[in-house]
Amino acid sequence: MPLVDALGRPLRSLRVSVTDRCNLRCEYCMPEAEYAWLSRDDLLHFEEISRLIDVFVGLGVDKVRLTGGEPLLRRNLPQLVELLALKPLKDLALTTNAMLLEEFAAPLKLAGLRRLNVSLDTLHADRFFQLTRQNDHARVMSGIGAASRLFDSIKLDAVIMRGLNDDELESLLDYGASIGAEVRFIEYMDVGGATRWTSDTVVPRREIVERLAACFGVVTALEEPGSTAPADRYVLPDGRIFGIISSTTEPFCQDCDRARITADGVFFTCLYATDGLALREPIRRGASPEAVAALIEERWTARRDRGAEERVEVRDRAAYIPVATLREHPHLEMHKRGG
Ligand code: SAM
Repeated sequence: MPLVDALGRPLRSLRVSVTDRCNLRCEYCMPEAEYAWLSRDDLLHFEEISRLIDVFVGLGVDKVRLTGGEPLLRRNLPQLVELLALKPLKDLALTTNAMLLEEFAAPLKLAGLRRLNVSLDTLHADRFFQLTRQNDHARVMSGIGAASRLFDSIKLDAVIMRGLNDDELESLLDYGASIGAEVRFIEYMDVGGATRWTSDTVVPRREIVERLAACFGVVTALEEPGSTAPADRYVLPDGRIFGIISSTTEPFCQDCDRARITADGVFFTCLYATDGLALREPIRRGASPEAVAALIEERWTARRDRGAEERVEVRDRAAYIPVATLREHPHLEMHKRGG
């Protein structure tokens, strides 16, 4: 019997953050001047991550995505991929901003990584600087180029913000088609870390579809029964497929089978959850797989999170967690728990 939560949702998908460090300072994720970082001793070792994943696999997880922070900043990451590639997983993927991808695409592929999600919010170098505070757009584009020659399956994820990059819907789709990558537009979310979030800056899914229909013709929603993927997928008249992740205006908590582990081993059952379960200590003191599984099982079976749906009900919605609280509780940051 699969492990299900209090609302009947199975635990299938795990996002594993391998570092909280990032080499970009994206406006929607890390806009502050300073952050509190995890110390190196706090990080789970690769062997500890591997043992934890064995426990999760035993509980029904069959999809693992490595994330962060920027996962490629974690030293020797391909070694972790090599360990995880041996597990009985349906999907092993990585999310990256592509800053280091030119160097790492080949070692990751060799290590057994199957899929890549690359975050790319703009095709303009000046805008990239405005969005990320780094002047490295060319480096990102070379990284994506290198990966697209090696990986069959790449998704390009773009957070769309009104007035910042919402005039790039068509050009991002064209660029995706040129390298054989599927583009996914992500609604700007008011998650922890998005301290400058305002509802005016969100471009809702409905508007994205309308704008693309005005440009390309009829946009048809793909029927994908049983899919628990966060993106709803659409097809354009020329056959191009793209996705929209509408967590802000039309969330999909009822299908959510995802959990997250921070780089220091805290288990979160929702992106909006404020309370996590620390697993590093039991793993580090050598608790048996059964004992660790029991802790996770207890947490998951009690899970009632509907974080994104509850946010929709909030009137006068503003940033979810104020900066002062984030400073006190850095685990509430998106870059700590892994997007
Ligand atoms: N550094 C990697 C990257 O850039 O893909 C992985 C970590 S990043 C936190 C993972 C994803 O979270 C990225 O696609 C990013 O765009 C998304 N993200 C972060 N903050 C967000 C927000 N406020 N709203 C929507 N997506 C967000």
